[in-house]
Amino acid sequence: MRVGVIAVQGDFSKHIEALQRLDIPNLETSEVRTPGDLAQVDRVILPGGESTTVGILMQRFGLGDALIQAGRSGMPMWGTCMGMIMLAKEVEDRDQYSLGLLDITVKRNYFGAQVHSFEDEVVIQGIETPVTGVFIRAPIVTRMGSGVSVLCEYEGTVVGVRQGSIIGTSFHPELTEDTQLHRWFLTL
Ligand code: GLN
Repeated sequence: MRVGVIAVQGDFSKHIEALQRLDIPNLETSEVRTPGDLAQVDRVILPGGESTTVGILMQRFGLGDALIQAGRSGMPMWGTCMGMIMLAKEVEDRDQYSLGLLDITVKRNYFGAQVHSFEDEVVIQGIETPVTGVFIRAPIVTRMGSGVSVLCEYEGTVVGVRQGSIIGTSFHPELTEDTQLHRWFLTL
């Protein structure tokens, strides 16, 4: 199995480290920056970072269109924080580039600025033990289309969704030692 991590900007190296910690034989990881890189992998993770910057770069390198095609053809994808914003159809109050692979609207920076970052337990549908959610200028989901289901909520707001084999979480499991979500993603 070949897992790519979008490496345009953001904390992609943390996802690669988390995948390597799974210690699964035959699991290959690679950094994806171009459509050619994407063609070499079976599934992809979009990390945390800055969605406006990544949107501009994705369009410039043709990676956006390649991801849209791959997502529509059923490639499993997981976006964490900025990655979920990139996968969304709409960003509230902003006219910014996104891939539109998850039929959701997100609201950026819902929990406040960098100094308001926090960690708390999050219960995920289908995963036994709660995971530690690291929220850093995290978005929330404010609208979900009919094909989208809730993966997790935090204090009454949706912070994780699934549409087929595409998932989005507002928080960063790659910044914790807990690899449950990474392991689960590989089963999609
Ligand atoms: N606030 C960032 C954005 O809107 C996301 C932050 C993150 O990925 N931790 O793009």
